[in-house]
Amino acid sequence: MRVAVLGAGVVGSATAYMLARDGHEVSVIDRCDRPGMETSFANGGLMTPSDSSPWNSPGTVRRIGKMLFDSHSTLKINPSAVPSIVGWGLKFLANSTTARHKANMVANIRIASLSLETLRSIRKATTLNYDQTTRGTMRAFPRGGRMARFVQMCREMEEWGVKFEVLNQEQILEKEPCLKDVIDRYIGAVFFPDDESGDAHKFTSEMARLATELGARFLMNTSVLEIVKQSSSRISHVRTSNGDVRADAYVLSLGSYSPILTRTLGIHLPIVPVKGYSVTLPLNGWNGGPTRPVMDDGFHAMMVPMGDRLRMGGKAEFARFNTEVDPKEGRRVLNDILKILPAMASHVDVESASSWSGLRPMTPGGPPIVGPTPYNNLFLNTGHGPLGWTMSCGSAKIAADFITHGRILSNRVDPRNYAL
Ligand SMILES: Cc1cc2nc3c(=O)[nH]c(=O)nc-3n(C[C@H](O)[C@H](O)[C@H](O)COP(=O)(O)OP(=O)(O)OC[C@H]3O[C@@H](n4cnc5c(N)ncnc54)[C@H](O)[C@@H]3O)c2cc1C
Repeated sequence: MRVAVLGAGVVGSATAYMLARDGHEVSVIDRCDRPGMETSFANGGLMTPSDSSPWNSPGTVRRIGKMLFDSHSTLKINPSAVPSIVGWGLKFLANSTTARHKANMVANIRIASLSLETLRSIRKATTLNYDQTTRGTMRAFPRGGRMARFVQMCREMEEWGVKFEVLNQEQILEKEPCLKDVIDRYIGAVFFPDDESGDAHKFTSEMARLATELGARFLMNTSVLEIVKQSSSRISHVRTSNGDVRADAYVLSLGSYSPILTRTLGIHLPIVPVKGYSVTLPLNGWNGGPTRPVMDDGFHAMMVPMGDRLRMGGKAEFARFNTEVDPKEGRRVLNDILKILPAMASHVDVESASSWSGLRPMTPGGPPIVGPTPYNNLFLNTGHGPLGWTMSCGSAKIAADFITHGRILSNRVDPRNYAL
């Protein structure tokens, strides 16, 4: 079958690979010059089924209220974005009940676990290098923080296969001696042995390379202008800046821009862009940092080793499609990390750090939207929010299964959880 994948981010590129592996004739269309140049470019690098709890846990309203008035907060709402997020925001709050939050968390865990399993099998069958670490992740909690509540949530996630260990100060240092200067800050940590990490951009390029080796074509520097329908149940073609592209089936993976292209088809995707920042610091051979991703729950800061670089990040900002990098935000992220890793300042040129921002394509519940649409040859694979890389291989497999077999082959996931 001829399949056109719209978007060459991590989701579209992984989907292209899965479809090519299934024997389809695949074309991928993207407006950038290379795959993975937008939100999949410099994200946090975490491949973490353990992070499956959606952002709207019970008590969200109270917490958001507090965060908006805290100048050091990691959440910001730009007034210009308010009109565009009101409807979405109400759905976000409706999903913050205990029952909805748990259902969404389980749906996230299932697709993320399928993703990790799929990634590991791709790794076995191919050569993949994306500066990965496979040593788990650690979340450290300052005194007076929410560790007890977090451990309770881990127990709930454990029922669905997420393994964890609670660490005391001594055990934290056994795993990450670099925290010795600040160990008294922490009351303990939670370690997730199955989590992984790596460079999502390199991974996306690798997926595109593997797909190309299987015959997929990447049509870069090509904007999708319109998805043209033939009837109320069928897409006829895609109009692009380089002419029309016709296929037997189409997969939409345009990240935060997905809703713009489906509107004219009468499909209203509940996805809004949520801006986030990352900072990447070349380490130039210094190996005094963490050996696996470490999150500081107090600063809402993370540091992720990536080859000879350290990736750091945080922050959620509703600012519509604005991806301008505010240097103050990059500096704030770096300052928080220097509080956790003070030794870094005397070994590494922190001024050489580069800041980046990207737009998480967020659904109000948390799980992405993957599967068929009212158009029998249009499929969705979008809305992966803060976990797009973590879920990419799993949701690519689901999307490819729908096209190749008409149903999901894995019994790990329930398609209803990701339906439009
Ligand atoms: C700061 C930050 C940190 C993050 N950290 C993590 C993390 O640690 N782990 C994790 O799993 N996830 C993380 N995420 C989320 C993750 O990066 C995203 O969910 C993921 O990159 C989304 O991938 P995508 O392919 O759907 O979108 P994108 O990567 O944005 O890809 C969409 C593609 O569509 C193309 N496109 C859009 N419109 C058009 C058009 N009209 N015509 C042609 N092409 C078009 C774009 O060029 C782009 O290449 C983070 C996100 C941010 C912002």
